[in-house]
Amino acid sequence: MQSLGKESELAVKKDQRYLWHNMTPYSEQHPPMIAASASGSWVTDIDGNTFLDGMSGLWCVNVGYGRKELAEAAYNQLLSLPYFPLTQSHMPAIALAEKLNEWLEDEYVIFFSNSGSEANEAAFKIARQYQQQTGQPDRHKFIARYRGYHGSSLGALAATGQAQRKYKYEPLGGGFLHVAPPDSYRRPAGMTEEAFNLQCAQAIEDMIVWEGAESVAAVIMEPVITGGGVIVPHQVYMDRVQEICRTHGVLLIIDEVICGFGRSGRKFGHHNFGIKPDIVTMAKGLTSGYLPLSATAVRKEIYEAFKDNSDDYGHFRHVNTFGGNPAACALALRNLEILEQEQLVERAGILGRRLEGGFAGLLEHKLVGDIRSFGLVLGIELVADKATRVPAELSVVKGIIAGCKAKGLIIGKNGDTVAGFNNVLTFAPPLSSTDEDVQFIIDTFTAVLNGSWAE
Ligand code: PMP
Repeated sequence: MQSLGKESELAVKKDQRYLWHNMTPYSEQHPPMIAASASGSWVTDIDGNTFLDGMSGLWCVNVGYGRKELAEAAYNQLLSLPYFPLTQSHMPAIALAEKLNEWLEDEYVIFFSNSGSEANEAAFKIARQYQQQTGQPDRHKFIARYRGYHGSSLGALAATGQAQRKYKYEPLGGGFLHVAPPDSYRRPAGMTEEAFNLQCAQAIEDMIVWEGAESVAAVIMEPVITGGGVIVPHQVYMDRVQEICRTHGVLLIIDEVICGFGRSGRKFGHHNFGIKPDIVTMAKGLTSGYLPLSATAVRKEIYEAFKDNSDDYGHFRHVNTFGGNPAACALALRNLEILEQEQLVERAGILGRRLEGGFAGLLEHKLVGDIRSFGLVLGIELVADKATRVPAELSVVKGIIAGCKAKGLIIGKNGDTVAGFNNVLTFAPPLSSTDEDVQFIIDTFTAVLNGSWAE
């Protein structure tokens, strides 16, 4: 790795002086990696060092870096119509909403925002107002899962089930309740995965009943908990959750912020389970991270409940200035075309299986407790003891990540520090990664684990 040149030394100093980084302890911020350019799955820093981005930024650069077509789509739109609010309309938003219906394989009406958090906030408000306007005014509560992540704003953070992100910022939005996720790796000994998943789904029904179904607006979940440690449910879990929601008049919100746009090997994560959510939220891969844009897709019947405007209170009283910016919509449309033309949804499945196959031998390693994957998302759960499944020490987890970075591979760490589950390493490279990129990930990670971490 090249050492810091004069120019980068100055940049580091200015960074230290002026920039507040996301989610990173101060001691780990300096010197930061200062990215200068990127192409495909590779990022180059200002000193010329290259890294394979095994996390697609923050799980978002689905089509890979350096796509000129995306820059052109945004540029052309900025020249013709850079901005117009969606209190009215414009062609890129109309075209993208239509295209999203094709991708969702069902009929939804689309509300645009700028981030995953905002897409979820809109979903919560829509769910509450829908319940009010259809004769269920007391249905205000939301049920989510521990370890799930739904965003950083006070409502989306309240839905999040990771204590370490929350407790300094209380009180959060009210009315959010949590149940345990279907973490099959930690199921009771002797219990089948299916029985355990049914038990976890039952916890949702029990909570609805104990709380009083007439007070519950919606359940929110990712198809697979990604950032919380790659927790993949059994099919029976998702079937049962959908059945429970329908039985009790509770809406099912599926957060596709990470799992959407091919990441799961299907267009959307929930397509893998054949369920039909009432509301679908999405962001990240919608623009592959090139511009901010998110969407809340709402089943047509729910939208219908917002049409009665006799007292001027029936409509959705929610606005965001930048949501559905024309350039972001035009770019998103081009991004979806690339995903289709290059068959990147299918490629995610192929690469995910290759990654899983390449790592299979690591299950013998003393630190590797479990390997779980879903499309092109893979998690490796590190343990201090295989028999008891006690999570590995944070210093070990961080050491492995640093070891990979030193060899030019960026990987992620996810989980909940307060609850002790900060021990899942994550891999989510661009869907456009080459076979050689994936082999680099397998070889580099294996070398790190079998090097300093073998004994
Ligand atoms: N939901 C999920 C599942 C996410 O992973 C994230 C972001 N990591 C969000 C919501 C929030 O998205 P944003 O950071 O764009 O607000």
